[in-house]
Amino acid sequence: MKKHPNKDINDAVKYAVENGWEIVAPGSSSHAWARLKCPYNDPDCRCGKFCLESVWSTPRNPRNHAKAIRRIVDRCINKDSEQ
Ligand SMILES: [Zn+2]
Repeated sequence: MKKHPNKDINDAVKYAVENGWEIVAPGSSSHAWARLKCPYNDPDCRCGKFCLESVWSTPRNPRNHAKAIRRIVDRCINKDSEQ
């Protein structure tokens, strides 16, 4: 697995992967380190937002960014288990 230079974010990415999320290439948007893709390709499952979350290489607040990543994963999983 690709490793993020920031420990908090790397842990959050690992958490996402453990929950079935996929790391996808950031494409042409160069500021993103990678993107995380939700395992449920379902219009009802959008994690409260989109099922694709960008992981920034150098966010202004890495700790908050890591938290946001975990939150989006939790929302997605919770939503799925409620059904
Ligand atoms: Zn989702």
